[in-house]
Amino acid sequence: MTKYVYLFSEGNGNMRELLGGKGANLAEMTNLGLPVPQGFTITTEACMRYYADNENIAEDIQEQIFEYLEKMEAITGKKFGDKANPLLVSVRSGARASMPGMMDTILNLGLNDEVAESMVKLTNNPRFVYDSYRRFIQMFSDVVMELPKHKFEEIIDELKERKNVKLDTELDTDDMKELVARFKAFYLENKGEEFPSDPKVQLLEAVKAVFRSWNNPRAITYRRLNDIPSDWGTAVNVQSMVFGNMGDNSGTGVAFTRNPSTGEKKLYGEFLMNAQGEDVVAGIRTPNPISSLQDTQPEIYKQFTEIADKLEKHYRDMQDMEFTIENGKLYMLQTRNGKRTAQAALKIAVDLVAEGMCTKEEVILKVEPKQLDSLLHPQFDPEKLKKATPVAKGLPASPGAACGQIYFTAEDAVAAAAKGQKTLLVRLETSPEDIEGMVAAEGILTARGGMTSHAAVVARGMGKCCVAGCDALKVYEKYVEIGGHRVNEGEFVSIDGSTGNVYIGVIDTVEATVSGDFATFMGWVDEIRSLKVRANADTPRDAKQALVFGAEGIGLTRTEHMFFEADRIAAVREMIVSKNVEQRRRALNKILPMQRGDFEGIFRVMRGYPVTIRLLDPPLHEFLPQEKEDIEALAKEMGLTFDELNETVKSLHEFNPMMGHRGCRLAVSYPEIAEMQTRAIIEAAINVNKEPGPKVIPEIMVPLVGDKKELQFVKNIITKTADAIIAESGTDLKYMVGTMIEIPRAAINADEIAQEAEFFSFGTNDLTQMTFGFSRDDAGKFLGDYYQNKIYEFDPFAKFDTEGTGKLLAMAAKLGRSTRPDIKLGVCGEHGGDPSSVEFFHDQGLNYVSCSPFRVPIARLAAAQTQVKNPR
Ligand code: PEP
Ligand code: MG
Repeated sequence: MTKYVYLFSEGNGNMRELLGGKGANLAEMTNLGLPVPQGFTITTEACMRYYADNENIAEDIQEQIFEYLEKMEAITGKKFGDKANPLLVSVRSGARASMPGMMDTILNLGLNDEVAESMVKLTNNPRFVYDSYRRFIQMFSDVVMELPKHKFEEIIDELKERKNVKLDTELDTDDMKELVARFKAFYLENKGEEFPSDPKVQLLEAVKAVFRSWNNPRAITYRRLNDIPSDWGTAVNVQSMVFGNMGDNSGTGVAFTRNPSTGEKKLYGEFLMNAQGEDVVAGIRTPNPISSLQDTQPEIYKQFTEIADKLEKHYRDMQDMEFTIENGKLYMLQTRNGKRTAQAALKIAVDLVAEGMCTKEEVILKVEPKQLDSLLHPQFDPEKLKKATPVAKGLPASPGAACGQIYFTAEDAVAAAAKGQKTLLVRLETSPEDIEGMVAAEGILTARGGMTSHAAVVARGMGKCCVAGCDALKVYEKYVEIGGHRVNEGEFVSIDGSTGNVYIGVIDTVEATVSGDFATFMGWVDEIRSLKVRANADTPRDAKQALVFGAEGIGLTRTEHMFFEADRIAAVREMIVSKNVEQRRRALNKILPMQRGDFEGIFRVMRGYPVTIRLLDPPLHEFLPQEKEDIEALAKEMGLTFDELNETVKSLHEFNPMMGHRGCRLAVSYPEIAEMQTRAIIEAAINVNKEPGPKVIPEIMVPLVGDKKELQFVKNIITKTADAIIAESGTDLKYMVGTMIEIPRAAINADEIAQEAEFFSFGTNDLTQMTFGFSRDDAGKFLGDYYQNKIYEFDPFAKFDTEGTGKLLAMAAKLGRSTRPDIKLGVCGEHGGDPSSVEFFHDQGLNYVSCSPFRVPIARLAAAQTQVKNPR
């Protein structure tokens, strides 16, 4: 028979999967001989069984729960529902990974009218007993029976007003009794039945509620954001109650062994005398700093600091502990590795190594890669942020904070920025044409688009704050409505790209500081990892930034981003509307020197590192104006009639440009574009190689290939052009030609394609899009429904889909190596900067990942962590 219940004394710290983090740590503390109120843990397997059994606790599990309840009674010498010596328990969730505040807790369970009376006799403290009782009814009704919490608060407020008092502590025994009676009456009225008085019924209902809370919306969201699978389930801890609210000799508190915001090695925390845990958290009374316990309860303080020290040494990490003092006796209710800011995480990691407590490998696993992000971008001043209320929420598309005057077109944002204003570019959605405005603005806010929409990708690339897909945003010509509030052009809005929150008005930002610990830590990261990390960079400026953040090359230069610069868009448009090859070549000749200059700039910055440059990818219509006035203006500029130009614009219109005339398909139709780009790359490399320093070996990449013949066709253009230029130059420039694998057909035929490709770079954005058949721009509209129904748990554009798209990638890697064993394999989709995706790419034996410069440190750390966990 499966064992679903464990006494604390039966478990240990290694049993997190079964007992959850809290249960495993309670067992471990019990084994260490610490003062832990005893109890038992119902396993995560019982939770999954509850769901498998249509949200029922099966008979055999119920039997085990009551069997262990008896064991617990024997250990504590108290009995459930007993009149002489009643046992009261807390029922608390505890998943494998800590999910603070996401799931439910019930305290003081086991109380009813008779038990309350017997507790009064035992404690001689009727106020305490009825305070506990009313808290229990309140919590049980809210958490288990889903009656609105605020209704109970209203009843309390009403009573306080009548009694003319401010604090809960000013209510006396009779008041507490009155609350108990009124709460029960409210319960009866709303539930149509009496409040359950049988402690065993209370217990089973509470366990069910905790199991249910595993799937409440905030837990689902938390899991998605933290890569926690839904099939882990939560354990339930049933622990004998100890009371911090028994009088002035009792209290409760929370403490960390080191400061969680700075990392300073000093006990940090707070406590309240005569209170239960929720009072500390709820902020009803202001708690005292833990150090003041030294003055009031020196013995307890000493004992507590010794325990804290012991726990930190035992777990070899900063601990977050909950404790209660009952009538002058200390109890430990919980310990866990404490959550901490990125800055604290780095300091603690470096200190733990210096103190000889941990190895470098061990501390590398203690820092959350995504957290590093907060060290790299400006942030809102935390004090100012506390006072602000968001009016809307979008996708946290690119982290950091931005505050500026809003403008609705790229030109207006550029013009305002030129006047020295801080601006925010607000658009329905952005297109590549907005690039200048994005550069000029502090941040970008869009109403549409997902995590890999244009705005999001480009903003991340620039390290610029972006909130995308904000449904509550309505954009009009000269004003917007945000969550129902009207904001005019030129007025201030603040956005938080790390949370997706949107605020009206100014919130000041502060520059992020990078401390010396950051460099020390990243040095260890680089010593350990085997997966290389490159950056996606389109300009010398991005490339410099990438180097600062530790990139070892460029994995993707999207050349189209260079086509949009104000001084070249005219030539690009001329190329597009050309009627024949000659005209097109003439226009391309104007673009050539500009592209060559771009590539020279990037090669110079990246001397000694590999640089992959991709040929033009997006469909041509993206470069043409769409509005009537803009078409008219351009027609005039180009000496065409409106009708002529409009005809071209119309003919280039595509219903689904993501699947349209883009990528290498452009080179098939217009070989001269690939020819010009190759020339620009090769000439730039030759020029730069004439300068002293390491030699550049450009990697020319063909996008959106689906067949070997397609690649052969484009490769022919590349090699013919390149070889002629190299021969003419009299140099021996080496270059490589490879392809992106971003179409499922390419993955399936990767063995054939590898015969022509010296490297594969997986374009996981498009590969995901085409494998799912979801448009990367607007899948966000319905993915929420998929999360709710647990069909998909994650946004596949943010976290790589290892189970589906991953099979294609694994197959392509294997097939590619079968025909070209030394083929270089990388990833350049957005997933290259996502930690859990990086783990998968490492495990597949890829050579590198490439991501936006601002995600390079994250990818480096994720790669090192994977190497520690799964060396290769
Ligand atoms: C990709 O598809 O993953 C990729 C990197 O290319 P892009 O995002 O430019 O389509
Ligand atoms: Mg692509």
